[in-house]
Amino acid sequence: MTLFDVVFSGNDTVYGLTESAINDAIAKYGADKAVAFPDTAYSLPCYYAVTGTKVGNLGELKEALGVVKTLMTREQKLNDAFMSGVATALCAEFIEVLKYIDGAAPYEAPCYGHLGDPVIRELGVPLVTGDIPGVAVILGAAPTAEEGVALVKSYQAQGILVTLVGGIIDQCEELGYKTGANVRVIPLGKEVTSVIHAVSVAIRAALIFGNIKPGDAAGLMDYTMKRVPAFVNAFAPLDAVIVACGAGAIALGFPVITNEETFKVPKSLIVQKDVSKFNATSLEARDIKIKITNIDIPVAFASAFEGEIIRRGDMQVEFDGSRVDCFELVTTKDMAEVEDHKIEVIGPDLDGFEVGTKHSIAYVVEVAGKRMQSDFEPVIERKFHSYLNCVEGMMHTGQRDMIRIRVSKETFNAGFRLKHLGEVLYAKVKSEFAAVVDKCQVMIYTDDAMCTKLRHELATPVFDKRDERLDTLTDEGVDVYYSCIMCQAFSPSHVCVVTPERLGLCGAVSWLDAKATNELDPQGPCQVITKERVIDERIGEYEDVNEAVKKFSQGALEDVSLYSIIEKPMTSCGCFECICGIEPLSNGVCIANREYAGMTPIGMTFPELASMTGGGVQTPGFMGHGKHFISSKKFMKAEGGVKRIVWMPKELKEQVAERLNATAKELYGIDNFTDMIGDETVAEDPETLLAFLEEKGHPALSMEPMM
Ligand code: SF4
Ligand code: ZN
Repeated sequence: MTLFDVVFSGNDTVYGLTESAINDAIAKYGADKAVAFPDTAYSLPCYYAVTGTKVGNLGELKEALGVVKTLMTREQKLNDAFMSGVATALCAEFIEVLKYIDGAAPYEAPCYGHLGDPVIRELGVPLVTGDIPGVAVILGAAPTAEEGVALVKSYQAQGILVTLVGGIIDQCEELGYKTGANVRVIPLGKEVTSVIHAVSVAIRAALIFGNIKPGDAAGLMDYTMKRVPAFVNAFAPLDAVIVACGAGAIALGFPVITNEETFKVPKSLIVQKDVSKFNATSLEARDIKIKITNIDIPVAFASAFEGEIIRRGDMQVEFDGSRVDCFELVTTKDMAEVEDHKIEVIGPDLDGFEVGTKHSIAYVVEVAGKRMQSDFEPVIERKFHSYLNCVEGMMHTGQRDMIRIRVSKETFNAGFRLKHLGEVLYAKVKSEFAAVVDKCQVMIYTDDAMCTKLRHELATPVFDKRDERLDTLTDEGVDVYYSCIMCQAFSPSHVCVVTPERLGLCGAVSWLDAKATNELDPQGPCQVITKERVIDERIGEYEDVNEAVKKFSQGALEDVSLYSIIEKPMTSCGCFECICGIEPLSNGVCIANREYAGMTPIGMTFPELASMTGGGVQTPGFMGHGKHFISSKKFMKAEGGVKRIVWMPKELKEQVAERLNATAKELYGIDNFTDMIGDETVAEDPETLLAFLEEKGHPALSMEPMM
């Protein structure tokens, strides 16, 4: 048998299974029965991306299977093998979607099955920043559970997103290894067809971020090959079905590494007999570089641990700024006042506290550098959240004097002490802010009286001063804006224009962040944009901004406004925190955030609204944006500002209420504006919403028509 024969026979097997599964389903439910995956706007994403056709019911699924059959040509040629691989993947998607009939939840913990669009959108930023340097798909059972878990752990420690299919899931369970999306180890399912849920993520990345048009199969494969850093590790024994799936992966540009002595295809199907070398071989095959910061601590440090949750019962000690005096602070000192790499703990260390108790903590990172500016202090400080969360067994929430930190018993028992917290801050600040920080020392206080005194005398005045500075930071008050093209790794023509009153749509890049990024790396993703030649004040259009956008989008974008959702709106990449869209009946806009799973009065869910824009294309009427932007005085200024907001999910409304109400009061003299805004508890359809808005006398109802 040739490799071709194996692929073809695996493909035939899966095709046969799919055909009978669809026939059985039609016999049971009828051809009109709806089929869909949950939380996606892309129908059956793989089939839709390859063919451009959406499948909505069993009858259409059967027709689609006929289309798949046409891919199954049988010449002994590479392209035939690849297309058979793709056909196998599509069959797997059909088998999987049948499991979701009638809104069933076919997967049980720990398995996830299908992953919704919001999960993919959330991955955008960490993928472009390299926090997630790659995506591993591990298939089958390792020779031993220990070897399997060691492999998973090795990827996790590098920040690589790991997806698991088949026996490896049982091996993780057997050894009690923690899995879950929050630690970036995602068991998909135990049957081989569930591998399609990993493929589906890669393919939707192309649709969401890459502006790849459904049906453009060649463009799709080019995108996944060049921009999605995924690879497959398939454990022996490989059967024909796995080999056929592997051909599909290779067609998308994902190399397959296996420990089975089988056929080899240079750079694509690689035999590595030694499972302990899978990691190195895979990274080399996909050309993935891992950034390493050497930090001298007794536990792992990786971005995969950022979402780790430490429950009360698992914690050794807690610092809680909502109960006692705590804070974190970066402050600039003179060169002579800072001794590089000094870490001092003043007060009891972790072993001086009883298990499970709450205490005060304050840590002050004192930096000095010729190019350091006070504007960079909050930029550096805001990164502490991410740095400390990357420590295995440490959880950090909040910022400034509202921080909360938990250290797990396991991490404590591994020898972690407060000086290690200092080591983490020191190492990260020195490596990530090398261009501005020449020297850095960390002072850690746990003495209650010291914490109280320093909070009031040192920290609070600094925070107050920063707030004053932020209040005076307006679009009019600065001379330059910044571009951000970080997302071009996925969204090749997208450019964010970041201004003091409009942060990047991912929510992670404020004007100060962009300024610091520019200072740190002048040739990097954030460039200065002047704003001297105004074209139209009302919509915020400038000749120099247009020129910059044209240049940074490689000509894809001609002109962009800063303040309008209708006229030349800013583009979206796909990783936006919120999406805003026009609701015609109420003459306003609805906003949905990524976390919101329900319906909006526009008649679309977040994934559906989000799919209306993206890929760096201008789509009037829809705008991706950061949460913080909702209370900006520049929010849709051209269309009348925040007064246009008629609906938001309740949770989002609560998050932005204080600032949004202040803005509405200042601009229009409206008190408690958020009380006039609908949410899902009030209305999920336009008519009910309108009745609510009329009752509240919402200002949007009497404004000029939006369209
Ligand atoms: Fe991406 Fe814009 Fe955020 Fe930059 S500011 S990371 S381009 S979304
Ligand atoms: Zn993005």
